Amino acid sequence: MSQRMQGQPMIILGEDSQRMKDQDAQSHNISAARAVAESVRTTLGPKGMDKMLVSSMGDVTITNDGVTILQEMDIDNPTAEMIVEVAETQEDEAGDGTTTAVAIAGELLKNAEDLLEQDIHPTAIIKGFHLASAKAREEIDDIAVDVDTDDEEVLRKVAETSMTGKGAELNKELLGQLIVDAVRAVTVEADDGSNVVDLDYVNIETQTGRSSGESELLRGAVIDKDPVHPDMPDTFEEAKALLIDEPIEIEETDVEAELQVDSPDQLQQFLDSEEQQLRQKVEQIKDVGADVVFCQKGIDDLAQHFLAKEGILALRRVKKSDMKFLREVLGASIVSDLDAAQPTDLGTASIRRDEADELFYVENADDDVEQHGVTLLLRGSTEHVVDELKRGIGDALDVVSQTVADGRVLAGGGAVEVELARRVRDYADSVSGREQMAVEAFADALELVPRVLAENSGLDAIDTLVDLRAAHADDDPRAGLDVFTGDVVDTYEAGVVEPAHAKEQALSSATEAANLVLKIDDIIAAGDLSTSGGEEEGGAPGGGMGGGMGGMGGGMGGMM
Ligand code: ADP
Ligand code: MG
Repeated sequence: MSQRMQGQPMIILGEDSQRMKDQDAQSHNISAARAVAESVRTTLGPKGMDKMLVSSMGDVTITNDGVTILQEMDIDNPTAEMIVEVAETQEDEAGDGTTTAVAIAGELLKNAEDLLEQDIHPTAIIKGFHLASAKAREEIDDIAVDVDTDDEEVLRKVAETSMTGKGAELNKELLGQLIVDAVRAVTVEADDGSNVVDLDYVNIETQTGRSSGESELLRGAVIDKDPVHPDMPDTFEEAKALLIDEPIEIEETDVEAELQVDSPDQLQQFLDSEEQQLRQKVEQIKDVGADVVFCQKGIDDLAQHFLAKEGILALRRVKKSDMKFLREVLGASIVSDLDAAQPTDLGTASIRRDEADELFYVENADDDVEQHGVTLLLRGSTEHVVDELKRGIGDALDVVSQTVADGRVLAGGGAVEVELARRVRDYADSVSGREQMAVEAFADALELVPRVLAENSGLDAIDTLVDLRAAHADDDPRAGLDVFTGDVVDTYEAGVVEPAHAKEQALSSATEAANLVLKIDDIIAAGDLSTSGGEEEGGAPGGGMGGGMGGMGGGMGGMM
């Protein structure tokens, strides 16, 4: 830097930009992040409440799912968005535990705020959190129970624990079993003996109108389409199925071509040739041996008529994803050019029509073909019920498949968190300096889970925690809260079982997010900080939190 530039104030920020430093910046960020985390706390656990989210378009979502809530909320604050990312990472990596991850991140920041007030430097806090998180994850491995991945009972418990509170309650056993069956149907053993679960082969379909107890698992696909012609057959024990992704229509020779018709004869000739073309296509379909055609594109009216006359069932405009799924289910190929279709491209299917629901059930009917896909057909009385069921089932599928792949589970209901807190506190003694306080603060934050589970069940959080700590001190590492009775029980025995991997992930993403927020000591905004995103002027203490979260307040009404 040249002599001349030194000493002279250099203006690099635009006139409208705002800047916030050190404590101001920290407390601004922490408040924003905490506000988001706290907004989902009341949904934690089986007794957690649901949220009703109304989008700006008026669409209503009723859910208990952390990541769904945060994604639907119109959050317009960069720090708050970091917390949303915690939920998203958790969803991607583990599929469940999103509320837990977000709530812990919020609690870490709350405890960090206390430490900052005691003049402990952010760097020490970050270091302490980091150490504690690593220690906790190490201890998870020690606490975790290794399970036999063929043990259906454990898998069912994992599914049921994940589903409780997600609208699946009434038919927990049935749905749990369906999930376990679905995961097992798509599990293959890798060369090294480990289990690989490919959830891409589990399709979830939803149907409104019947109770969730009538949900079922199909070893195949469900296609929500009508036959193109009423005279077509709709049931086959064993049909040869052709999957085609080109239209069964007249091929346009040239877009520019203009038809010159000088006489009625010529027109008739032209129409005859069109008819001829379509007839030929249907002939080809018949010759290749197809009884059923799944067409991704359109089918000409005349071709529909010819197909019906041949006794061939045809469905048109089948979704691309359904086509791919059918390919897996039937072990067939998707044909792109009818002229090149071969009998070997076809699959063998059994096809049933469910008139009431206007669905086709397509299952593989060839024992020699390896069966890949299953479909979970979820039923529920209304759209909202089915949607929430679908989210709950999606989480449960994820955790069951993780358990099958990973083989480690934990006692839920806060048991693992209290045990980890105890061990992390022990560990704090070996940490020197101010980091020690951060390690202890981390342990305290873990206990948020049983506290909130108790609160959400209408129990006294302090009493519950005292009881839990006593049980753990008494060498009962699986003592957790039974939210239905309010008792401290061995939650593992009680069937509240969670996958270890999801918990590890929740701790690491919560810690990373908290540390990310704590590292920031300077906010430079290209605009007014206190109003960015919000229409109304916030003017709230804490550096414009009110305005900064304005978008959220507006979108959420008075829900928080
Ligand atoms: P998340 O989004 O974090 O998965 P949930 O609302 O699904 O949030 O709640 C998960 C928590 O509820 C876990 O701590 C789990 O152990 C606990 N839980 C689930 N079922 C029970 C139960 N029957 N009794 C006590 N706690 C339970
Ligand atoms: Mg859950």
